[in-house]
Amino acid sequence: MQGIGTITEREERITELLETVGLTPAASFLFRYPHELSGGQRQRVAIARALIISPLFVVADEPTSMLDVSVRTGVMHLMQDLATNMNVTYLYITHDLAVARYMCNRIAVMYLGKLVELAETEELLQHALHPYTRALLSAVPVPDPTHKRSTVEIKGGISKPINPEPRCRFYDRCPLADNSCRDSPHPELEDKGNNHFVACHKV
Ligand code: SF4
Repeated sequence: MQGIGTITEREERITELLETVGLTPAASFLFRYPHELSGGQRQRVAIARALIISPLFVVADEPTSMLDVSVRTGVMHLMQDLATNMNVTYLYITHDLAVARYMCNRIAVMYLGKLVELAETEELLQHALHPYTRALLSAVPVPDPTHKRSTVEIKGGISKPINPEPRCRFYDRCPLADNSCRDSPHPELEDKGNNHFVACHKV
């Protein structure tokens, strides 16, 4: 544990963290092997491991994507509680917009390694500006067969990530692309007001 504390102090800290993440009684989990834990319990152990040195910032890369929906909600609740109680900030990486909405104060959308839009969660979801973000949002299913909405179509398949052309990374698929996009470098993020940043020459 990064040379911190004595063996006794480390065991106390591990016990405390196991209880914090809901693996109780902690003594019954201390010496279990991974195959003796469920998927949700293993994810709680992973969270405890990340938090044991009291970090201020944790990168959580798809932490719930492999879990059943019922278990996923519990782990997300736990992460939110820990964020509040332990004053930790997450960079939460997900492909699921519903999860992003639930977990995040701000959302940054990436395409092919570049940030294309960044805003506070509801601002981004209600007033998306970048064509890629708009296409993502228009693809989210709505559980109402009478609901009508316009969809934003994007062309082709996923662009090649190796040696991309020196222009907007979304150019090959963008419904708004024109010659000015083709002939310009990839756009920088620009502040459009209300803490809403977009990387697009035409927005
Ligand atoms: S810069 Fe052009 S190609 Fe890129 S997202 Fe904007 S409109 Fe589309």
